[in-house]
Amino acid sequence: MEIESMVANSVLVRARTGAGIKGRSWKWKDILRFPQVSQCVDLAANLERDYHSLCVRQPIGKNLFQLFCQSRPDLHSYTSLLNEAFQTKLYNKQKLHICFTEKLCIQPNTHLQISLLPFLSGEPFYQYQESMYFDRFLQWKMLERQPITKHSFRQYRLLGKGGFGEVWACQVRATGMMYACKKLDKTHVKKRRGEAMALNEKQILEELDSRFVVNLAYAYETKHDLCMVLTMMSGGDLRFHIYNIGEPGLDTDRVQFYAAQVCCGLIHLHQRSILYRDLKPENILLDDNGHIRISDLGLAVRLTDGNLVRGRVGTLGYMAPEVVAHKYYGMSVDWWGLGCLIYEMTAGHPPFRVRGEHLKSSEMERRIQTEQEDYTDKFSIEVKRLCSMLLTKDPKERLGCRSSAGKEVQSHPFFRKINFRMLEAGLVEPPFKPDPWLVYCSDVQDIDEFSTVKGVILDQTDQDFYTKFNTGCVPITWQNELIETGCFKELNVFGPEGSRSPDLDW
Ligand code: ADP
Ligand code: MG
Ligand code: MG
Repeated sequence: MEIESMVANSVLVRARTGAGIKGRSWKWKDILRFPQVSQCVDLAANLERDYHSLCVRQPIGKNLFQLFCQSRPDLHSYTSLLNEAFQTKLYNKQKLHICFTEKLCIQPNTHLQISLLPFLSGEPFYQYQESMYFDRFLQWKMLERQPITKHSFRQYRLLGKGGFGEVWACQVRATGMMYACKKLDKTHVKKRRGEAMALNEKQILEELDSRFVVNLAYAYETKHDLCMVLTMMSGGDLRFHIYNIGEPGLDTDRVQFYAAQVCCGLIHLHQRSILYRDLKPENILLDDNGHIRISDLGLAVRLTDGNLVRGRVGTLGYMAPEVVAHKYYGMSVDWWGLGCLIYEMTAGHPPFRVRGEHLKSSEMERRIQTEQEDYTDKFSIEVKRLCSMLLTKDPKERLGCRSSAGKEVQSHPFFRKINFRMLEAGLVEPPFKPDPWLVYCSDVQDIDEFSTVKGVILDQTDQDFYTKFNTGCVPITWQNELIETGCFKELNVFGPEGSRSPDLDW
């Protein structure tokens, strides 16, 4: 390894392992200084007063609403109950009902969601909006709306290269949080008419909130690039793990775990009518604990009213027969993709091409449409059955494509050992944890340099598109960042005796 690479890696590892408090700028409190409450009136007037968005979905909003409830003796028991409910729900529905009925003297079998939420979203929600806790919420929202520029981040090493630009490790100066910044070169985007694609990826990502799909935290622009700041995935991609560590392929435990998490990610996307279309090992990334997330949503599409789409997109080796054949298709192509992924993790090569084999695309297309894939003795009976059901040529017969959709995949015997409720809650320990001292990607000098295109002129029409892209913080991810890094707790103090004293003297 060259010295340049070693330096770049050790700087990144140091930033990663010391992320958080040590990574904050010494000016972090200035960057996150609350505006006066009087500066929030416009925001207050225009904010949609939706209980679910303000007090449940937005993490800082939820936190402040709970603080409000705890400050009121008559509401105190409701919040502790709500917290308890969220925890117990995962393990034991029975227990939840008992604690619920005992504490609130409510009819047994009344469902918590039904009786508690309408209560809180009534009177308590209105009173909350009159309280200092809501003023504080508005102050946080103002900070969330601060413009984002390249100066908001520190930049570390190059992580990878994509079709429109490079991906760099970066760190938010205000909080010390590490992210990956996917840059799209403006001239490349224009030359290859990638505007709709870039905006599509950004808009789909900002709507999602799943632990199995990378989160978008910020979207901003610089003179030369459009930037998407994404969950940092330090553990490398599945392609690296399948091929670059020992014999090609992965242990059954890991195949099961990753396949189950990808399955949850696909269900999340499909429930929101989003078809992913780009499932392959290099798009599945590991975080530093060994959990995976689906990334690269550049080819994802929203299917309106259950309509089908057409278009030969994706990577040929992973395309479903109906895509290869230019037919209309729906979610079926993602279940085919999952079949390819499970096959490749198990066998150490994709289903229709052995290692080192170079194929003409016509031959690849023929194999996908007509050939039966081989199963060696690396495949147990169960994984073989699952793969062949997912790699069924006819989409109508394929597992995952009938009315119960992804649920029928989750209930396949191959996943018998997986507790999907625990998995969804992030409570299952991954079978493999990446080494925090390693950098799981190619050396810096082995990633080709990205050239800018000459002779492309950027004008006013481009500016309109950039404005649509450049929306700054994504609320839920940003609020989670503030909470996770401890900045929320440190800054969210109130004046003496709970007075409305928002401007603290540092
Ligand atoms: P493209 O859409 O152009 O293929 P990708 O989103 O796949 O771009 O990113 C290109 C490469 O950058 C990936 O193969 C991976 O190596 C790296 N990368 C992308 N996103 C992340 C991330 N969130 N964390 C770490 N590395 C990433
Ligand atoms: Mg990619
Ligand atoms: Mg892409």
